[in-house]
Amino acid sequence: MKIAFFDTKPYDKPSFDKYGKEYGIDFKYFETKLNEDTVELAHGYDGVCVFVNDTVNAAVIDRLEEMNVRMLALRCAGFNNVDMKHAFGRLHVFRVPAYSPYAVAEHTMALLLASIRRIHKAYIRSRDFNFSLSGLTGFDLHGKTVGVIGTGKIGRVFVDICRGFGMNVLAFDKYPAEGLDNGDTIRYTDLEELFAKSDIISLHCPLTDETHHIIDEEAIEKCKKGVVILNTSRGALVDAQALLEGIKSRKIGAACLDVYEEESDLFFEDNSGHILDDDILARLISMPNVIVTSHQAFLTQEALENIAETTVRNLSVFSTTGQCENELCYRGGTAKDCKDGKCF
Ligand code: NAD
Repeated sequence: MKIAFFDTKPYDKPSFDKYGKEYGIDFKYFETKLNEDTVELAHGYDGVCVFVNDTVNAAVIDRLEEMNVRMLALRCAGFNNVDMKHAFGRLHVFRVPAYSPYAVAEHTMALLLASIRRIHKAYIRSRDFNFSLSGLTGFDLHGKTVGVIGTGKIGRVFVDICRGFGMNVLAFDKYPAEGLDNGDTIRYTDLEELFAKSDIISLHCPLTDETHHIIDEEAIEKCKKGVVILNTSRGALVDAQALLEGIKSRKIGAACLDVYEEESDLFFEDNSGHILDDDILARLISMPNVIVTSHQAFLTQEALENIAETTVRNLSVFSTTGQCENELCYRGGTAKDCKDGKCF
């Protein structure tokens, strides 16, 4: 089987080569992202393998179908970059539903600790032999309230980590997890209470029409003064302009972003020699209380291994049995509708 692999980074190849060899799949690695301009590269392949910032819109899907490229293997969990309704009946779409919730949840805590204990500032100071502590005062996490929006695989690991720090958890989920709420230190509530009472808010829900800009001007208005916003889920969950205004007005105490609404042309690439056109991102990065990482939360050895193994297995199992447990929409069968990251 031959698969065109888009948006390749050096860290992708070792694990995909290893599992590809094991399962008899040849990957042709392209550095470019998949989009309408590059889709022709998939000609002659059985499938394409894409990541979070490849564009799989209706035009790309139509062209893949015309070229008889039947499989779209997402090497990630989220699929907001795929027009799933259009893909239905045209492509077999697989994803990696879980590769390491620990990687993302632990990165979220790393960002939070770095931010509130000013580690990003202290690191730069001590490299310059500046050992002054002025301006580095942080606050204890113990006893603070964290609002967790989305209590799926990653959200639940993050809740566990926060409990390890002695924090109280207010959770919100459209489909609450059974057995998580203990009526005391972990409690499900509505967004109103979560916004009003949380010292820290962390986003772990998928990006859908409903969750788009779940943190907007109105939500920020309802938050506690000094709230810390953590987003390691998807950029468009946060209205970046409203976030910037919240920081400028001192309503938001700090923000840690591993994702950004307009990240697709910037993140994962070295743009250090370029002039940044995005004024909102440039202003956010200039803030002393904002930490931005470049969609890095997933990037652990364990996650890369799991991503490659599951992606290769998805392709292999489907090609031999015609079925795959990680298929999102079926190419044949009855009409389905994709909602909230699930197919109905
Ligand atoms: P998951 O499907 O296990 O959990 C998502 C949770 O969100 C579910 O419990 C679901 O019920 C809930 N949800 C759905 N709609 C909601 C709504 N309208 N309001 C509140 N909650 C809602 O997914 P996961 O594996 O925990 O991943 C969560 C998100 O993390 C993914 O959607 C993805 O966007 C992001 N992610 C980011 C990285 C990264 O590197 N930064 C890596 C992996 C995943």
